[in-house]
Amino acid sequence: MPRPVVGVLALQGDVREHLQMLGGAGADARPVRRPGELADVDAMVLPGGESTTMYKLANIFELFEPLRQHIAAGRPVLGTCAGMIMLADTIEGGIEGQQTLGGLDVVVRRNAFGRQVDSFESDVDFAAFDEPFHAVFIRAPWVEKLGDGVEVLATVAEDPAVGRIVAVRQGAVVATSFHPELTSDDRIHRYFVELIRSS
Ligand code: GLN
Repeated sequence: MPRPVVGVLALQGDVREHLQMLGGAGADARPVRRPGELADVDAMVLPGGESTTMYKLANIFELFEPLRQHIAAGRPVLGTCAGMIMLADTIEGGIEGQQTLGGLDVVVRRNAFGRQVDSFESDVDFAAFDEPFHAVFIRAPWVEKLGDGVEVLATVAEDPAVGRIVAVRQGAVVATSFHPELTSDDRIHRYFVELIRSS
């Protein structure tokens, strides 16, 4: 697969930034808004934004089931921030009736870092990289519980004593609490493109 085709769910959120980064990381990146467009992609990115809005729009645009099928078929998917929430099998702190696509066997807590630390930046050790990754967190979730077969890729110290899980992988599903598209460091997009090539 020389240049995998990667769709970015383009209902809401940091779509343009992901498209640019994926392009630079060796993918043929395109926005996805319609169910039919999913058939043409090898992999999907679910961007950050607002998960409560995203799930409503995914229903309105009739993308919910096609996205579920994409994930169930084992096609790679990267979810960042709200995208991580969309991938979680179970969420804490969702709004009444909030649904997720699922596929990632974790419990994710929305807005987990609390009001005082709405947004922050931190250098995190990412399992696949030699050098830390500068991570930008915006009203970020964290992973509260891991199912079997879910690998932790990164944690961040909430206070010096408590490490919180902020990046995970389960097979072809990768999720980060932070926004890798908001820095100039494209290693996570490259990591994802490599994963697509090898799957
Ligand atoms: N707090 C948002 C949510 O619940 C996620 C924030 C983000 O994606 N930056 O969806």
